[in-house]
Amino acid sequence: MATATTSRRTLAGAVAAAVAASALLATIAARSGATAQPSLTVHVPPPANDRIYGSPLARGRPIVVIDAGHGGRDPGAKGVSGDIAEKDLTLTLARELRDDLVKRGRVRVAMTRDDDRYLTLEERAAVARRLNAAMFVSLHMDSAPNGLARGASVYSLSDIASDAEAAHFAAAQNAGTVTDAPGGPVQAILSDLAMRSQMSASADLASRLVNKAVGRFELRPQPHRFAAFHVLRRAATPAVLFEAGYISNADDEVLLRDAWHRSAIALALAQAIEADVAARSRH
Ligand SMILES: [Zn+2]
Repeated sequence: MATATTSRRTLAGAVAAAVAASALLATIAARSGATAQPSLTVHVPPPANDRIYGSPLARGRPIVVIDAGHGGRDPGAKGVSGDIAEKDLTLTLARELRDDLVKRGRVRVAMTRDDDRYLTLEERAAVARRLNAAMFVSLHMDSAPNGLARGASVYSLSDIASDAEAAHFAAAQNAGTVTDAPGGPVQAILSDLAMRSQMSASADLASRLVNKAVGRFELRPQPHRFAAFHVLRRAATPAVLFEAGYISNADDEVLLRDAWHRSAIALALAQAIEADVAARSRH
């Protein structure tokens, strides 16, 4: 009984405090001449933006979505020097690639993020679907416990991983996402057919990228790998995940922080993207 009385009193006290607080807020609002609700206004930016970048020459050209990996409260991997995060390098490279592609004028470009914000994988993929994008390119920097591991690699969408490391990597990337296809058996068959063609087009894009990179910057052994990445599948367009190098390796980190080295990477990516768009427009 004593407990009940106490909690009733506590409740009554809380109600009184709340009434007093709202009266105070109403007074403040009245004094400041505000007519709207006297509450804090928190500006929430849209999760991803659909802005399209392109030169006048590129009007009507295919749209390539560039996805700077990580962002906001998700820093990604940490550089071995300790003073740079993957999310910063992915954004820098994404902006450089965008600017290159816009200058070259053969495609239009959209970015899943152009600032330091957190996006879910679904929000990233949804940009490509909304814009009916011709391609989705996700940019990342690798990291490994072995500090000697270095070089770039590219992953394309597959239902079977090329190796255990790729499977593990995709599972880590996909954490927290739902991977079931919606709808019944017919829809499952249709989406399976669409998925086969998406996987084969993604593999073509990845091999073009490897070809353009050879001799320009270091690649991992077997640089083209396959895995079931949620973000690539949900983009519903040819999609690859490019790992520009290892920020857990001291030499690679220096290179990835170097604008000249990144410009070589961006050029190879731009040429592969343009070659892929050109090849598919001939079919
Ligand atoms: Zn990453």
